[in-house]
Amino acid sequence: MSRMERAGIGMTSARTRDRLVERLRGKGIANVEVLERIREVPRHLFIDEALASRAYEDTALPLGRGQTISQPYVVAAMTEELVRERPDGRPLGKVLEIGTGCGYQTAVLASFVRHVFSVERIQSLLTRARRNLRELGISNVSLRHADGWQGWRSQAPFDGILVTAAPEKVPDELLEQLDDGGRLVIPVGMAGRQSLISVTRNGTQFERTELLRVSFVPLVAGIEP
Ligand code: SAH
Repeated sequence: MSRMERAGIGMTSARTRDRLVERLRGKGIANVEVLERIREVPRHLFIDEALASRAYEDTALPLGRGQTISQPYVVAAMTEELVRERPDGRPLGKVLEIGTGCGYQTAVLASFVRHVFSVERIQSLLTRARRNLRELGISNVSLRHADGWQGWRSQAPFDGILVTAAPEKVPDELLEQLDDGGRLVIPVGMAGRQSLISVTRNGTQFERTELLRVSFVPLVAGIEP
């Protein structure tokens, strides 16, 4: 069965997606555009065929190379926080994402911002992400095989930075690449006890809020093929 044929059958049906969206709404996701985007993006195309029947369950799933596609609730919560209106009312221009994985969070985010710059340390995952995003016709994204601890200096500053792997503390380099008024959404902490936090830059001040307990793979230094 081809990827396109799979898009039409029961496990990925409108009803299955509706159920996921209702679940996320029940768990507190209130931004209607974010919920609509979760309904729209075909998560089953981002994972292995063997797991496609579970694509619209609200769980993280393995991607290979020891990595996971994030839980839809967490993708929605991070996106909702990142796109929340800024005090100065400016829309989101450039956003940096660290940890592209298969590109699912990238695809959800792309419709809310002018351009997403996304960095992944494992080349084989990045290749899959590139194919997935191309198949969906998402073109306002630039992908790079690099170590996200360094951010993406030549494109900084960013209106938003979203990190989908957890360091033990917020990397200074990422704070430096945040524009004034910009927001960084990042899981922080050791395996098993991480918190998702949101940091807003106000001049030289960084205001920090804790959002929820999460479980991400670690943010690892260096790159791999
Ligand atoms: N955003 C993905 C989640 C992928 S899991 C989704 O939508 O499902 C986290 C990803 O972060 C993994 O692919 C991992 O390889 C990557 N990662 C970990 N440390 C990194 C680093 N220092 N730089 C870039 N990517 C990193």
